[in-house]
Amino acid sequence: MSDNKLIDGKAIAAKVLDRTRDKVKQINDATGAAPCLATVLVGDDPASATYVKMKGKRCEAVGMKSLRIEMKVETTTEELLDQMKQLADDKNVHGILLQHPVPPQVDERAAFEAIPPVKDVDGVTATGLGYMWLGLPGYGSCTPAGIMTLLHEYNVPLKGMEAVVIGRSPILGKPMAAMLLNEHCTVTICHSRTRDLPDVVRRADLVVAAVGRPCFVEGDWIAEGAVVIDAGYNPGNVGDVDFDAALPRARLITPVPGGVGPMTIATLIDQTADAAAKQLGVSLEG
Ligand code: NAP
Repeated sequence: MSDNKLIDGKAIAAKVLDRTRDKVKQINDATGAAPCLATVLVGDDPASATYVKMKGKRCEAVGMKSLRIEMKVETTTEELLDQMKQLADDKNVHGILLQHPVPPQVDERAAFEAIPPVKDVDGVTATGLGYMWLGLPGYGSCTPAGIMTLLHEYNVPLKGMEAVVIGRSPILGKPMAAMLLNEHCTVTICHSRTRDLPDVVRRADLVVAAVGRPCFVEGDWIAEGAVVIDAGYNPGNVGDVDFDAALPRARLITPVPGGVGPMTIATLIDQTADAAAKQLGVSLEG
C-alpha cells in the first residue's frame, strides 16, 4: 500500500490540539478561567454516549473544562429548551454541543436554535450556517471544517478544482459544499435523487463522501489522481468509500478510521477555545 497517499487525520488532529493547548494556556494566564464546553446528550444511544465521553476527555487533555448534561430518553422539547437556555445564560460555559440525533419527539431544530451564535461551536444554528455560506467569520460545522484543515495541511490546490460532495445534510454535505465554494472550488452537491451518480463523481478532482452507506462509492467512480475524502463512519469501522478499490486511483485518500473522524473532535475543541477567547476578551497570539 502506498502510505504517501494516506491522509493522516490522527497526526493532524494531534497538531490542532497542540495549538489548542497553547490557546487554553493563554486564556488561563490572562483571565484565570478555563474554556468550558457543555455537551448535551438526550437518550441512551450507546454510540452517542461514547462520542460525548470522548469529547469530554479531549477537553480535559488540553486543560479545558467539560460539562456533561445527560437527559432521559422521554425528554420533551420544552424540557430540552429549558436546559439549553440555562447553558446559554451560563457565563462559565463558552461552547454548547447538542449531540445529534435527539429522540423523535424532540424538535431538534428548535433546540439547536436555542444556542447563541457566540457559543455555537459546532456551527449548527441557522445563523452559523448563514455565516458559513456568506464566508463570514464564525464557527464551521466541525466535520467539514476539520476536512478543510486536512485539505490545507496536505496543500491540496482547491482553487478551480472540480469538487463533488455526496450528501446534503445540514451538518455535513451542505456546509462542506459552502466551505469548498468559499475556497473557489466548482462544487456539485449530490444526493439520493441525483441521476447518473457514478458519472458525476468521475468528473471530480476532489470527492467528499458523506452518505452513511458502507463502501457506497466504488473504485471505478474515482478519476485517476483524484483526492478522496471519506466522511462516512458505519458500523464495523467502515467508511462510505470502497477504500481498497479507490486507493490505486486516488492521489490522496482518508482512511477509516484515522482520517476524518479524529478531526471532528479536534475542531470542536479548538473552536471552543476560540469562542472562550472571544467571550473573555482575550486576543490570542500565534
Ligand atoms: P444523513 O443526514 O443521513 O445524510 C446522508 C446524505 O446522503 C443525504 O443527503 C442523502 O440524500 C444522501 N444519500 C443517501 N443515499 C444516497 C444515494 N443512494 N445516492 C446519493 N446520495 C445518497 O447523514 P450525515 O449525518 O450527513 O452523515 C453521513 C455520514 O458521515 C455517515 O456515515 C455518518 O456516520 C458520517 N459522519 C461522520 C462524522 C465524523 O466525525 N467522522 C460526523 C458526522 C457524520 P437525501 O438528502 O436525498 O436523502
